[in-house]
Amino acid sequence: MAAFATVIDRRYSKEMIVRARTVLTMDGAPIENGAVAISENQIIDVGKFPGVSARHSGQEIIDLGEQALLPGLINAHCHLDYTCLRGKIPSRKSFADWIRAINAEKAKLSEQDYLGSITEGFAEAKRFGTTTVANLTAFPELVSQIKSPIRTSWFAELIDVRSPERANELVDLVRRRTDSLRRGGELIGRTRPEPALSEVEGGAPNWGLAPHALFTASTNLYRRCEEIARRDDVLLTTHLAESREEMEMFRDASGPLYEFLKEIGRDMSDCGDQTPLARFLDLIGRGGSPNRPRAIEVDLSYLHWIVAHLNELTESDFDLLETAKRKFHVVHSPRSHVYFAHSEFPFKKLRALRFNICLGTDSLASNENLSLFAEMRAFQRSEPGISPDQILEMVTVNAALALHQENALGRIRPGFQADLVSVPCSGSPNLFEQVVAFDGPIDWMMVNGRV
Ligand SMILES: [Zn+2]
Repeated sequence: MAAFATVIDRRYSKEMIVRARTVLTMDGAPIENGAVAISENQIIDVGKFPGVSARHSGQEIIDLGEQALLPGLINAHCHLDYTCLRGKIPSRKSFADWIRAINAEKAKLSEQDYLGSITEGFAEAKRFGTTTVANLTAFPELVSQIKSPIRTSWFAELIDVRSPERANELVDLVRRRTDSLRRGGELIGRTRPEPALSEVEGGAPNWGLAPHALFTASTNLYRRCEEIARRDDVLLTTHLAESREEMEMFRDASGPLYEFLKEIGRDMSDCGDQTPLARFLDLIGRGGSPNRPRAIEVDLSYLHWIVAHLNELTESDFDLLETAKRKFHVVHSPRSHVYFAHSEFPFKKLRALRFNICLGTDSLASNENLSLFAEMRAFQRSEPGISPDQILEMVTVNAALALHQENALGRIRPGFQADLVSVPCSGSPNLFEQVVAFDGPIDWMMVNGRV
């Protein structure tokens, strides 16, 4: 890949070269006998090993041998709060029953349990080769006590189902709290402050907001988050059109989720006329409103929304999506999807409409582990026609774009952050297939330039 084989930065003195049988840059063809030069926490060169080693002679060389070196994986949707709920909630027929069950489990957990859960989740994600997570937390106040060993884009989860009249107050309070924590998302163990995920390339703050879902967060709460996102350029994420019961609730004003929420006192006057997607697009202004333009590598401009799920869409929803001027990012969680037996995820239709689709693990209350490799394989089983290199993009370049880090993460390219993982490989053919098939903990990885 001579295109990027130039040294672009010598700000730091400490350099090293990592050599592998193959380097998958996500920028084109794999590089056989490839190498990556790293200076401090940045990639400064990539190409064939002889060229890279000649350009950086005298540097320490780490030879990974028969391995494929690839960008660290990015989990675009998870809830590390609930790592400790693995195996605790058997799959249920009704989504409302699952919410009841998780609420009962959550009631048993203490602050210490949540701290342990998040810490354990980070360690597990890292073991499986994840170097960046988009993590929703219901407890932003706990985050200052946690040292994240990988890059983290935190989202404060917001629910006002019991007090919608206080939506603005709640959002503003959480926003003030996360603002003060903004520097808390930095990586552990550095002698000088490293760029937190969001600060790389002057991006958005690394605390985003997560109105939980249309059924638990009010219209005012969504609108307030939207206002803040436009004002401060922060990322937003939400759960949308996940279950049949959510569709029934909003479109038909009926079903188990409707009954459950009515029972706990939610104002149900917004139900009975729109699909969840139509309602969401109304709340955010149909996706056609002005937004700060960003330099991205595709010819579409995306909103600051990362939308999880979108399993339940009607034909009229697809008409709306087709006419939306700007797109949002979509996260699909294949194994959680199987657990809930949701309707088929409309991958091909969304892709045809040029939505940016990523993968996430969701929480361990509906999944067995935090491996994105297992997630890629589960996706492959449901979409056997999609090539493994395109599947790998969903946990690298696509996810980086969703997090507004497309110029810093998700590729092995000079100027990008040195987040790398390697998996055993026996060379081409079927290189990407071997990567997706990799099972088990990662042998070698680098996060922010550190092995
Ligand atoms: Zn979720």
